[in-house]
Amino acid sequence: MAPKDIQHIGEELAILWNDGHETFLRLEELRRRCPCAVCAGEGDIPGRVHKPASAPLTAASFQLVRIEPVGGYAIQPVWADGHQSGIYAFGYLRGLCRCEQCARPANDGSAGAP
Ligand SMILES: [Zn+2]
Ligand SMILES: [Zn+2]
Repeated sequence: MAPKDIQHIGEELAILWNDGHETFLRLEELRRRCPCAVCAGEGDIPGRVHKPASAPLTAASFQLVRIEPVGGYAIQPVWADGHQSGIYAFGYLRGLCRCEQCARPANDGSAGAP
């Protein structure tokens, strides 16, 4: 799976995948999900650790300057505040998709029916 086309539209990133799926990602969401060591938190702790970002995010943190392709497997956004160490693998990006189709659980889990 790979993006066929990526467009920066206003405050969103529109990604067209080669399977025809479309993902619209808000830039703020994209930045907050930055997978780099600084943003995601360092260390080898298994599981997610919620800790405050080391640098405060500003309006510029959510402004996209450009997107660099990385080796055919990821993209690297360059942000207006100078941050650009986040490498978003295609699979990770697709996982951020919030559309109805992706939000729906893949398996029919037995969620909370009493
Ligand atoms: Zn980062
Ligand atoms: Zn989706």
